[in-house]
Amino acid sequence: MAVNSRGRERSDGYYHAQITYGLMPFAFVLGMYMTPHAEQAGTTALLCMFGCWLGVFISPDLDLPGLTFSEWKVIRIPFIGRYFLGPIFVMIWFPYSMLFRHRSFWSHGPGISTIIRILYMLSIYYAIRAVVPALNLPELSGMIESDTQKISCMSIIAGLMLSDIGHWMRDIGILS
Ligand SMILES: [Zn+2]
Repeated sequence: MAVNSRGRERSDGYYHAQITYGLMPFAFVLGMYMTPHAEQAGTTALLCMFGCWLGVFISPDLDLPGLTFSEWKVIRIPFIGRYFLGPIFVMIWFPYSMLFRHRSFWSHGPGISTIIRILYMLSIYYAIRAVVPALNLPELSGMIESDTQKISCMSIIAGLMLSDIGHWMRDIGILS
């Protein structure tokens, strides 16, 4: 296993993240074709690339017990990572790591696992919305009504799916 500049062994998560970064230009091109409207293509390209980048954080390996590479990445965000975003992120994904076996079809299956993670995040969101009404969390479906909004949303999901497929390909040995 290769070592980084500090002489530490690079984790599997590091290589997964490198693959995701490598896929971002492909996500950009994919995003350009996500819309039939030429004037929207630049936006969907950027959104699809953003969705792919999100794959570094919303990773299939969140099914692992303990702190994963992506959880450490959130914890290490300057200022807000350690005491705010990091603990929230870890709490959100803790039940997920209990629900799914590592590298199971549901957490790693191409396409399906991305949809399951999105449904998981939505269910957490709506649970918090129901339990803590004082937060005034908006109803998400009300924010995705027009065709443009739907296509934008699909572009982010497509990018995330591309990252997850890259992850799966490394896990089964197609990519290294
Ligand atoms: Zn994996």
